[in-house]
Amino acid sequence: MPERTASRSFGKASVRDAEVDGRRVLLRADLNVPLQRGGVADETRIRASLPTIELLRDGGASIVLVSHLGRPKGPDPDFSMGPVGKRLGELLGAEVKQAPAVVGDEVLEMASGLSAGEVLLLENSRFEAGETKNDPELAKDLADLADLYVNDAFGSAHRAHASTEGVAHHLPAYAGLLLEREVTELTAVRDDPERPLVVVLGGAKVTDKVGVIDRFLGFAEEILVGGAMCFSFFKAEGRDTGNSLVEDQGVESATGVLADAGGSDSMLELPEDLVLGKEFDAETEIRELNGVDVPEGWMGLDIGSNTAANYSKRIARAGTVFWNGPMGAFEMEPFAAGTRAVAEAVAAAPGHTVVGGGDSLAALASFGLADAVDWASTGGGASLELMEGKELPGVAVLQDAKETANG
Ligand code: ADP
Ligand code: MG
Repeated sequence: MPERTASRSFGKASVRDAEVDGRRVLLRADLNVPLQRGGVADETRIRASLPTIELLRDGGASIVLVSHLGRPKGPDPDFSMGPVGKRLGELLGAEVKQAPAVVGDEVLEMASGLSAGEVLLLENSRFEAGETKNDPELAKDLADLADLYVNDAFGSAHRAHASTEGVAHHLPAYAGLLLEREVTELTAVRDDPERPLVVVLGGAKVTDKVGVIDRFLGFAEEILVGGAMCFSFFKAEGRDTGNSLVEDQGVESATGVLADAGGSDSMLELPEDLVLGKEFDAETEIRELNGVDVPEGWMGLDIGSNTAANYSKRIARAGTVFWNGPMGAFEMEPFAAGTRAVAEAVAAAPGHTVVGGGDSLAALASFGLADAVDWASTGGGASLELMEGKELPGVAVLQDAKETANG
């Protein structure tokens, strides 16, 4: 099937095709991990970055590694890459040198002194004010540290920052293995899924995800909505939502989606029953509601058991499932059942399964199902923007793959 091959080809130059032997590579990775008591609380992103680091080391390159970490407002020891470098070194079984800053004379000297296979980790890129402004001078200073650039930071690819976009204008720029795989997996679902395509959306913010619904209305066979998101839809339908989480902007978006859904070939499913709580609290009084009009003084905190069974059945029939956003406030056990049911259905589904979103992955992991899906996307915002059909600046700037006879 030629179309299928075409839409699965990535189009950008891959680190696999770069000549790296004896060269210094500036590698932008996504090492933005949660920290706890001075250590790394969740090393998923560090592990996801290892294949490209190892490929480069095996290929005889030296590596200048850069990432952001959290949202510091300038240099701040609480956001130092120190603990990340330490853990990375343990995982690699090799020393990771740590730079005292992002750029500057001392960093340049350390970079110049690297021999093949060595890794130098720069400080948190957001210690530099120019990072998020995509300052051309910072981009140039970063580029001066290396001979070529590899972007493996899919989770930051939707941001045009100095280390994700600006720097790529100054060096031969390649895609890392993770970024390549992410784009390939998500693009395949977006453009060329096995049918039927079932899109499951939940979580807290409709406004973040309405672009995805817009993209899939008329394209996906079924769109299943849960999480706090469904209350914007119920409000738009004129129902009672009690104290449920409803965004004003979300209601506006939901109204538009409902209007479009009527004339489309997609089935947009909303919950038919709910689990309610008095407060957003694990110890609160709870009740089940066979229906969706939330009484005064209650809030909807999970989809009900009939909805969970219905969604699970549809997921089991899917050729492809794309899931983003928990079905309820799953962090609290009384409101976890809907998300658990969907997670189990996705894990057991015979179709191709792709999951995105930090909290959705945390939910999968908490049910012990992290490895039971075909692809778990490390990029929350980036994966949503890609699914919406937006161009990711950190991908667009990479050099194009060389045309070959085989395409
Ligand atoms: P993801 O990170 O997977 O994209 P979101 O960040 O959009 O997901 O949403 C996750 C959050 O949504 C979770 O913290 C969960 O507690 C919350 N949530 C889900 N359903 C509800 C609900 N009915 N009421 C309040 N919060 C909810
Ligand atoms: Mg989230």
